[in-house]
Amino acid sequence: MNKHVKIFAPATVANLSCGFDVLGCCLDNVGDEMIVSLSSEPGVRITKIDGADLPLETHKNVAGVAVEALLKEYKKDIGINIEIYKKIKAGSGIGSSAASSAGAVWAVNHLLNSPFTPQELVAFAMEGEKLASGNAHADNVAPALLGGFTLVRSYTPLDVIKLHAPEDLVMTVIHPQIEVKTADARSVIKQNVDLKKAIQQWGNVGGLVAGLFTEDYQLIGRSLEDVIIEPLRSILIPEFNNVKEAAIQKGALGCGISGSGPSIFALSKGIETANNVAESIKEVYQKTGLDFDIHVSKINKKGIKLIES
Ligand code: ADP
Repeated sequence: MNKHVKIFAPATVANLSCGFDVLGCCLDNVGDEMIVSLSSEPGVRITKIDGADLPLETHKNVAGVAVEALLKEYKKDIGINIEIYKKIKAGSGIGSSAASSAGAVWAVNHLLNSPFTPQELVAFAMEGEKLASGNAHADNVAPALLGGFTLVRSYTPLDVIKLHAPEDLVMTVIHPQIEVKTADARSVIKQNVDLKKAIQQWGNVGGLVAGLFTEDYQLIGRSLEDVIIEPLRSILIPEFNNVKEAAIQKGALGCGISGSGPSIFALSKGIETANNVAESIKEVYQKTGLDFDIHVSKINKKGIKLIES
């Protein structure tokens, strides 16, 4: 086989309540695998997709589009073959497309002996996100590439900041197996924001960032509040309010919509609380008769991981 890498491409939770389109964090034990290899035949090819029904055509697959953006800057005619082993369902709200975009550009950069910085890789991976949702957002690809918690301070120019991740934070994520179209999730959002709500929201973003750096878990909890998007979007997610109430009652620091949904995240201090939260939200969902997955994961501070090279 030609020079290749096998990688773990992690799932991510974007927005984190108050940080719509700017905050995100990386999960540790939920993600796809990819095998990316150099080929003597120039061009980018998706040679295999396992576990999901996604397009093999390079220009329709986020991994292909992201790698083409990278190669445009690399300016050498090289060949890349990509195999994707999907474990994160597309449209789940835990960064399925981002895992493929970020994973593909990370792997190619590794194979080329790292000509690009992590920030540059974020920009290439955003081209994949643009294909998936029509919007080149970085709140999933940034944590997938940098690990831990990330803040997109600015989109133009792109300025991504890695935040501190306190050791004891654990995520519980429930993924109801229903489809919430990203277009629908975007269409319920208002384009104008009331100033009073904006003040509350940026206060919370600052509070969350400060809470992460000072490891002040109570401050993190107080700041996990979304007064702008969640009240509008949560109506698309069955049992959202009951899940949130159950999670908080079991000791979660905060609970909100993961990305554009339908997944819901709860952030807790310690694995025991996170497991209790998982149990209580499972009880809520079992009553609905809907299928769902639950993940409990530590924060992945590294991001994409090399499995084999
Ligand atoms: P998520 O929030 O789980 O990332 P998105 O709505 O952002 O879901 O992205 C899923 C969309 O991207 C689907 O329309 C899917 O067909 C498309 N897509 C294209 N290539 C991929 C890929 N390699 N992995 C996941 N989704 C992909």
